[in-house]
Amino acid sequence: MDDTTTLTTTLIVGGGQAGIEAAFALRQNGYEGRIQVVGEESELPYRRPPLSKAYLDGSMARESLTIRKSPMLEKAGVECQTGQRVTAIDRDHRRVTLADGQVMDYDDLILATGARVRRLGGGVDAAHNVHYIRTVADIDRLKPELRGGARMLVVGGGFIGLETAASAAKAGLDVTVIEMADRLLQRVVDAPMSSYFESAHRQRGVHVLTAVGIEQWHGEQAINAVTLSNGTRLDVDVVVVGIGVVPETGLAQACGLAVDNGIVADAFSRTTDPHIYAIGDCANHANRFLGHAARLESVPAAQEQARTAARSICGVEQPHDAVPWFWSDQFDLKLQMAGLLGAHDQMVVRGQREDDSFVVFYLQDGAIQCAHAINRPREFAQIRKLIAARTPVDVTRLADDGHPVADAALEVAND
Ligand SMILES: Cc1cc2nc3c(=O)[nH]c(=O)nc-3n(C[C@H](O)[C@H](O)[C@H](O)COP(=O)(O)OP(=O)(O)OC[C@H]3O[C@@H](n4cnc5c(N)ncnc54)[C@H](O)[C@@H]3O)c2cc1C
Repeated sequence: MDDTTTLTTTLIVGGGQAGIEAAFALRQNGYEGRIQVVGEESELPYRRPPLSKAYLDGSMARESLTIRKSPMLEKAGVECQTGQRVTAIDRDHRRVTLADGQVMDYDDLILATGARVRRLGGGVDAAHNVHYIRTVADIDRLKPELRGGARMLVVGGGFIGLETAASAAKAGLDVTVIEMADRLLQRVVDAPMSSYFESAHRQRGVHVLTAVGIEQWHGEQAINAVTLSNGTRLDVDVVVVGIGVVPETGLAQACGLAVDNGIVADAFSRTTDPHIYAIGDCANHANRFLGHAARLESVPAAQEQARTAARSICGVEQPHDAVPWFWSDQFDLKLQMAGLLGAHDQMVVRGQREDDSFVVFYLQDGAIQCAHAINRPREFAQIRKLIAARTPVDVTRLADDGHPVADAALEVAND
C-alpha cells in the first residue's frame, strides 16, 4: 500500500526564505505528513540578502546562496518542485492548480509567495541596461555590466539601492544614487542617520543626489543618459532600479482571502481560512510585540512567521511575538536595527559616529522601543533582549560604552 495516501499534506506555495523555513520547522515540530514546496523560480530556495552584497561583488559563490541543498531536502522528506507556478487555489476542495495543469491536494496550505519589484514602466524597462534586483537571475544579468569605470545610475536610496551602490563602487564603477525624497532611507531611519549614510557613501566615492527625480530617459535599446528634475543631464552606462516591492497577493485575492497591504494573517500566521497560512514578504501579520499588524520585508520576520505557521499546523498555539529586526551591509558598515522607529520621547547615543561604531536608542517612557546600531554585532543580541523585555533602562549606563549594554536594564519591582 502507498502510505502517502494516509498521510496529511502541507503544501507550501513559494520556495523562498519563508517557504523553506516552514518546511523544516514542520519537521522540527514532529510533522510526519507530506511536505511539498512549489516554487516558480528554477533554483532551489536561496538567500536573497547576498544578492545586493557578497554575491554581487563576487565574494560569495552561487552554491553558497542555497539555503538547503538536495541531500538535506531528501533527508528531511521535503519535496521541492522548482520552475512551477501555482495559478489557482480551490479552497472548497483544498487543492491547487499549477501552470502546467497539475492539480495538487492539501490539508494545510502555506502561502509564502514573497513580493515582486515595483517597476518604472513606460518602456524604460525594455532597455537592456536597466536592471532590477530581486532574483539570482537578475544579478546574473547585471554582473557582466560591473566593469571598472562604467557609470551606474541607481534609482532609489533605500536599502537595495544603497547596498547595490556600495557593491558597484567597490568594483570600481562611478556610481550615482538619486532619491526622490529629501533624504536617504527616509522610511526607516531618522534624519541624522540618513545624513550619516549620505556622508558615508560620499566619503567612499558614491555621488548622492536627494530630492530629485528623472525628467527624461535618453536612449531606446539602452539608456545612455537621463535628465534629472533639477535640469542636470547624466550620462549612464547601466541603470539599477530599487524603488520597493509589491506583495505577491494575487492567488490569495482570487480565492477570497482577506488582503490589505499583504495577505492578512493573525499572530498564529493563519489567514481568514483556517487551513491556509501566510508568511514572509507576502503577509500582513498581526504582530503582538508592535501591537499592530505589519508587513515586514526581512529574513528574521520570514523565519519567525514560518516557525509560527509550522507550530500552528502541528497544534502548538504559540503566537508570533518577536521583536522585528533587520540588517544591511554597505561598504564596511553593518547596520542592525531592532524594533520599529516610531513615537519616542528620548534618544540615547552609545559610541561615536565618527568611529563608525555606535548605537542610537529610541526610548518611550524609559524603555527602549527601537535601536539602530552601526558595527556593533557583538552587542546586538543584548540590545534585542533589552527591547523585548520592555522594561525601563538606566540611560547613563546605556550611553556608557565602558559598561556592557545589558547592565543598563533596571530591576523592576514586583508588587
Ligand atoms: C537584494 C535583496 C537584499 C536583501 N537584504 C536583506 C537583508 O540584508 N536583511 C534582511 O533581513 N532582509 C533582506 N532582504 C529581504 C529578504 O530577502 C526577504 O524579506 C525574504 O527573502 C522574504 O522571503 P519570502 O520567502 O517571503 O519571499 P521570497 O524570498 O521573495 O520568496 C517567494 C518565492 O515565491 C515564489 N512565488 C511567488 N508566487 C508564486 C506562485 N504563484 N507559485 C509558485 N511560486 C511562487 C517567488 O518566485 C519566490 O521565489 C533582501 C531582499 C533582497 C531582494
